[in-house]
Amino acid sequence: MINDNVLRVRERIRSACERVNRDPESVTIVAITKNATIGQVDEVFEAGIADIGENKVREAFFKRSALSTMSIHVPLDTKWHLVGHLQTNKVKKSVELFDLIHSVDSLDLAGEINKKRSKIYKFGIQDILIEVKTSPETTKFGVSPEAVPSLIKEISSLKNVNIKGLMTIAPVVDNPEKARPYFRMLRELRDKIRDVPLPVLSMGMSDDFEVAIEEGATMIRLGRAIFEA
Ligand SMILES: *Cc1c(COP(=O)(O)O)cnc(C)c1O
Repeated sequence: MINDNVLRVRERIRSACERVNRDPESVTIVAITKNATIGQVDEVFEAGIADIGENKVREAFFKRSALSTMSIHVPLDTKWHLVGHLQTNKVKKSVELFDLIHSVDSLDLAGEINKKRSKIYKFGIQDILIEVKTSPETTKFGVSPEAVPSLIKEISSLKNVNIKGLMTIAPVVDNPEKARPYFRMLRELRDKIRDVPLPVLSMGMSDDFEVAIEEGATMIRLGRAIFEA
């Protein structure tokens, strides 16, 4: 089932890319495994997906341990993503676990990541995204769009943190077209920032990923589209 779902998703990515003249290779599927079993994570690997996202640090830790206890083959090119809110007291664990942290929304948090990263890995740089609150009602987390340029400027002086791009969570709407303005806002915000290259736009989930791709998403975060029948 998961393999079929992934094939269907890839076909939909291809059509969305065709509509706006984009290369489907420029879109990375991040499988969000928060409601998935270890067996399902294994199936996701089998389906050729190399990017796994969790919204909680503890859950990611347990899944990683379980994969190893159960001797499940984890492909070497697997990348681990944190897509949920990060509390300062979980930063140390996070820099050990994640290749990309999508949810940085303050200088304090970025500073803590910088500090912990330099303590644990002498030369390590933690890749992060800035979470932008494009809609007032979505979540309590994220930086307001107006505050993004100055936050990026401040964070870019930290030596062990590398800002790869921006992330947003669009509001839940009945029609994916209604999410388009939020995705467009994120892309336009990215296009305005010139001092730091921001190649990654993490936006779009199971109900709206095609619209997000049309607006420039380079990472789509999919849970239900992959794991539900
Ligand atoms: C759960 C979750 C997703 C995936 O949601 P689906 O609607 O199941 O695709 C994406 N991003 C974040 C931050 C999530 O928490």
